[in-house]
Amino acid sequence: MSALSRREFLLSAGAASMAVVSGAAHAAMGPADKFDLIIKGGDLIDPSQSLRGRRDIGIRWGIIEAVDAEIPVERGLRSIDAAGRLVMPGLVDLHSHVYPYGSAIGIPPDELVQFQGTTTVVSAGDAGVNNLAALRRFIVAQSRARIYAFVHIANNGLSAFPVAELYNIDNAQVEACAMALAENPDFLLGVKVRMSENVIFKHGLEPLKRGIKACELCGWPARMMVHIGGVETGELMSQILDLLRPGDILTHAYSGAPNLNGAFTNIVQDGRLLPAALAAKQRGVLFDVGHGGGSFDFTVAEVAIPGGCGPDTISSDIHVFSGNTPGMPFLPNVMGKFLAMGLSLEQVVSMTTSAPAKIIGRAPKLGTLQLGAPADLAIMDLVEGPASFVDTRGNKRDGKLQLKPVQTVINGVPFGRPYQSPFSVR
Ligand SMILES: [Zn+2]
Repeated sequence: MSALSRREFLLSAGAASMAVVSGAAHAAMGPADKFDLIIKGGDLIDPSQSLRGRRDIGIRWGIIEAVDAEIPVERGLRSIDAAGRLVMPGLVDLHSHVYPYGSAIGIPPDELVQFQGTTTVVSAGDAGVNNLAALRRFIVAQSRARIYAFVHIANNGLSAFPVAELYNIDNAQVEACAMALAENPDFLLGVKVRMSENVIFKHGLEPLKRGIKACELCGWPARMMVHIGGVETGELMSQILDLLRPGDILTHAYSGAPNLNGAFTNIVQDGRLLPAALAAKQRGVLFDVGHGGGSFDFTVAEVAIPGGCGPDTISSDIHVFSGNTPGMPFLPNVMGKFLAMGLSLEQVVSMTTSAPAKIIGRAPKLGTLQLGAPADLAIMDLVEGPASFVDTRGNKRDGKLQLKPVQTVINGVPFGRPYQSPFSVR
């Protein structure tokens, strides 16, 4: 810093921030400048630019400045050897539960990093208007992982037990929810509602209607994230699908959970995909996995996917209970299940990076390894060999590939070694 006058520093910082806006941050770097971090020798996979192959990555000031066949280690202050490993954009988990201390099921988002390689996580309705401010002030502000959220239509937020949040419909206050959306357009993506019978009891479509109303009132195009699985009746499932708008998200799309009577009322009923599900997909409703502890059934996915209702995004629905279940819904493991069902590595990486980042739509180039992107990346081993996967109903499938997170970088700063000084807020 001493070699740089304050004026020069301000000029260069200004140029850098301009460059970030224009998407050409690498222009700020001189030939003698060093990268803060170089990722050496990895097998890059970035579906956003159809890139797959051996490349080095140069990172400076939290941004990807160079992606080249060869960047000498001497050009960086630190380096990570990624030879023989996959290097992908940091994973983006569109459905997670990351409101520790504030909800009964949340996990600190930074504790998930070593198991998931997630650099961005979305709180799927953990907070309602009553406790949303605490999510921003006490969790988002002190986490390194990037966090976005869906606010719950119920003021009290997602209440797992002893009584779920919408047994009493009076908890769903449209105007209060709309106000929360209006006040937090940088952080909120829309409204979450859980439509299962064991959450809304006999309130039918009313919780969803209130959520959509809040989206329409708030002044910007907010999305619904609608949790299904064991809705009250088979007909209600079709009615829910019919109400969803293009850009709304159906989560737990491949749930095989029964309703309170033990009936199976999901998007595949009696072995057949509901016409309303295909119609929803075709008009732009987004299908999200949301595996969780009880919401992913191979037999549902194996009918829905060839029937035209494949996933747009793969997400974990990880929380303190689902994380202890045999299905192990950590995001790389859920990706392994879709590899076992025949999706390509490029597809599952796209569905956990650029696809959810595009839905978030708040940070340019998030979920990519493009020049000027935030330097969020996940280094993983692609382990070849027999693998066995189990869903949340005890069905097993064999695969040949598993993804194992090795190291994760957020905003150019690794989790663990090599440590950086000064350390980053993010
Ligand atoms: Zn969930």
